[in-house]
Amino acid sequence: MNDAKPASAGPAVASAPPRRLHFHVLRHDPRDPQSVPHTEVFELEEAAGMTLFIALNEIREQHDASLAFDFVCRAGICGSCGMVINGRPGLACRTLTKDLPADITLAPLPAFELIADLSVNTGKWMRGMSERLETWVHAVEQDPDLRRIEEAMDPDLADRIYELDRCIECGCCVAACGTARMREDFVGAVGLNKIARFALDPRDSRTDAEFYELVGTDDGVFGCMTLLGCHDVCPKELPLQTQIAFLRRRMARMALG
Ligand code: SF4
Repeated sequence: MNDAKPASAGPAVASAPPRRLHFHVLRHDPRDPQSVPHTEVFELEEAAGMTLFIALNEIREQHDASLAFDFVCRAGICGSCGMVINGRPGLACRTLTKDLPADITLAPLPAFELIADLSVNTGKWMRGMSERLETWVHAVEQDPDLRRIEEAMDPDLADRIYELDRCIECGCCVAACGTARMREDFVGAVGLNKIARFALDPRDSRTDAEFYELVGTDDGVFGCMTLLGCHDVCPKELPLQTQIAFLRRRMARMALG
């Protein structure tokens, strides 16, 4: 005798209706003398897989075509869409609305020149930092023979350099940094990461003393208060804490002779 009960389809489970999301967006256009910073609220229905990139485009299409924000790649590579999302710097294109509450506040990254609304000029800041720290390989040979095949680098060292080269210059680490908010000349974790990268590179002719000149200062590695907001928010999960410690040890060794 078979005691098994007949299979039942059971009561139909009603799927939850989509959430209504409320975006509280800080608006301001510094080029317009009449503009006063204020918050505007936009409402959207959440869709599956919705990112802030998708939501902001919908807001622009459905509510306000003048809303300013930056995007290029939509894949966390270009670094353009950094903004403060519910109080924390992050990339809009890599942030899913399902991971956020229904009320979402969006503000431009602080520490950078505001262009309008959520758009800031990180490029100008990054260029200034790069020129100041000379973030390029200073060739050991002044007149290298470009027809010669470059000497192979130790694979482990190449991996360590590649890891640091993954920085996309999004500016989230600068926006999250207490020192950068107080000192305009602070080079930020992005600058310290770059110096750590070039200090590792055997093709760079700069000496420890020359790197010390660049970042062994209060606007460099000794200005860091070790709050490590940079490390917490970096969307590429770069080992910023380790790089700052590495540079400090190296600079302290230099200073002690
Ligand atoms: S270190 Fe990280 S947070 Fe800072 S600019 Fe590079 S990718 Fe962005």
